[in-house]
Amino acid sequence: MQIIVVLNAGSSSIKFSLFAVAGEALQQECRGQIEGLFTSPHFVAKNMAGQVLAEKSWGEGVSLGHQGALQHLQDFLRQQQDGRTLIGIGHRVVHGGPNYARPVQMSAALLQELEAFVPLAPLHQPHNLAPIGMLLQAQPDLPQVACFDTAFHRSNPDLAQRFALPGKYFDAGVRRYGFHGLSYEYIASVLPQFDPQLAQGKVVVLHLGNGSSMCAIDNGRSVASTMGFTALEGLPMGTRSGVLDPGVVLYLMDHHGMDVRAIEKLLYQQSGLLGVSGISSDMRTLLDSDEPNAKLAVDLYLYRIRREIGSLAAAMGGLDALVFTAGIGENAAILRQRVCDDAAWLGVQLDTAANNSGGPRISKGDSRCSAWVIPTNEELMIARQTRAVLQGAG
Ligand code: ADP
Repeated sequence: MQIIVVLNAGSSSIKFSLFAVAGEALQQECRGQIEGLFTSPHFVAKNMAGQVLAEKSWGEGVSLGHQGALQHLQDFLRQQQDGRTLIGIGHRVVHGGPNYARPVQMSAALLQELEAFVPLAPLHQPHNLAPIGMLLQAQPDLPQVACFDTAFHRSNPDLAQRFALPGKYFDAGVRRYGFHGLSYEYIASVLPQFDPQLAQGKVVVLHLGNGSSMCAIDNGRSVASTMGFTALEGLPMGTRSGVLDPGVVLYLMDHHGMDVRAIEKLLYQQSGLLGVSGISSDMRTLLDSDEPNAKLAVDLYLYRIRREIGSLAAAMGGLDALVFTAGIGENAAILRQRVCDDAAWLGVQLDTAANNSGGPRISKGDSRCSAWVIPTNEELMIARQTRAVLQGAG
């Protein structure tokens, strides 16, 4: 028997999953994380029934760092391995730059190449790469695979990847890359199970979570998405602004004395649902609140979704289905209802009872454009890609 471990390393946490390779199937056995890496580290691992398998806290003010956390995870995973062979580790890596349209097996040379994309995703890329470097040093023979959030969008036509800037900036990497690709690729891969015809159609997938974006998928391939050069563009998110007139940035620098770091903090951490509501970045809290600004934040979120659906449908020249996924998309029936009502002009007719019970199909049988709820599984996508690369089919 063989296993694959999936790692998703962020600035203050490392998330992990363990998959057993069972013939063609990949069976997720446990998942968990170490969070608060530099402040008050806490580790928890659960099985797929949600039962806690192991837990540990290091206390306030302790800095474990990525190295210490990785060490602890390895000790835990060795126990779980139970005599089976670890065939490789799959990593979520946010940025694969303009060329990587597929996952790749890591090497020291490739690590250096991917480090060149740190300026394009400074809040994610260095942390995604940290454990890869550490493991390359400690266990050079252990195969590692990088799975990119940008890769699925490399099928976008050239025009969808361009800003109207002088060509030298495009050549220097200032392009629309798109993100959440692992989630979209997973949805594209399971669509045939829900509706084989739809898998060849024109679909807008709404990945609505703390980070929110939307993707136009035509015949299984990404052709446009709402996120661009960074994961800031497009929809408002938990704390990110989404689309913004670039003139606002110039104005803030000129007239509010804000420098790059201050604007970065504003746009990444203080805007979106949190900034507009002044209450919370959490959709549940806003939906439960009677405060007018909570309502305003939800209304603005929905208004941007409504406009982006039109834009993505226009990019494809039609629309056959909407697919909702991620924390908000999978759980907030009231939001799905409002999005579908807003898209009635595109032929979406909601089946209210199906929507309230969570789908998977939430549109009426004779709806010209169907609507679905499909849970995403980025970890499984990484495990699949890792296996494919290690079997030489990547
Ligand atoms: P991330 O982008 O961090 O992976 P998730 O996909 O887990 O985020 O989504 C988190 C968001 O989902 C939060 O805004 C949370 O409020 C929202 N959410 C989760 N469950 C519900 C629910 N039942 N109703 C409304 N929103 C929900």
